[in-house]
Amino acid sequence: MASLVVVLNETQDLVNIAGTVRAMRNMGLSRLRLVRPAEFDAYRIAGIAHGSEALLERIEFFDALDDALADAAHVVGTTARRREAAYVWQTPRAAAPEILAATAFGPVALVFGREDKGLSNADLDRCDRLLTIPTDPAASSLNLAQAVLLVTYELRMAAIASTPLPRPRRTAPPATPAQLHEMFDDIEAALAAVDFFKKRNPAAILRTVRAAARRAALDAREAKLFRAMAIEVVKHLDRMKGRA
Ligand code: SAH
Repeated sequence: MASLVVVLNETQDLVNIAGTVRAMRNMGLSRLRLVRPAEFDAYRIAGIAHGSEALLERIEFFDALDDALADAAHVVGTTARRREAAYVWQTPRAAAPEILAATAFGPVALVFGREDKGLSNADLDRCDRLLTIPTDPAASSLNLAQAVLLVTYELRMAAIASTPLPRPRRTAPPATPAQLHEMFDDIEAALAAVDFFKKRNPAAILRTVRAAARRAALDAREAKLFRAMAIEVVKHLDRMKGRA
């Protein structure tokens, strides 16, 4: 997320800069560039987007969009206008993984247009890809800061999704097919011992257990642990019977 740079082109209303700053902070972005903003007042913006002083201090100002994009490895434009026939566009959700991948090569600029006119065709030509948030065609144009929020939200969601689930602390090799078979056999024996199946079909139930276990990609230690649990159920019942 540190390589994502939000670029606001010719923003007319200071409230939208504040809304953008707030959305960026919520989504974990910190780099904002402003191209010829119609009004800018850090004090008033900080009054609307509380706690944003550090981000405001780092804002970079430019006189031309090209200058704001000079160091970008990838330029992402946004437009509400879907029917610009010459352009292909994606939803932010579909594009997010590719945009995150592009950050490996340098800053990635996310460009937003002015409230009344959006980005010009020349601005859109400057972009490597275009995003359109699929709004109702009868009211396609979002508030600028809300568009920033939706685009950066999708990027954050994609970043979270691509973070692998933490692996167990002690690493073990994947469970072998033989270990899984032993585990399934012992689970079946335990379920039979507690009279779980009754009128249910044991084969169908075991199939579900196997499917779930395979999806979980158990390692050897985990497979042994589940097996030990199942074995202990049977042993416990045997001990109880011995006592009876
Ligand atoms: N009439 C202008 C509206 C601009 S809204 C237009 O048709 O483009 C201001 C900015 O918010 C746009 O330039 C774009 O950056 C963003 N935006 C608004 N609605 C959007 C949408 N549906 N999809 C993607 N970006 C949008």
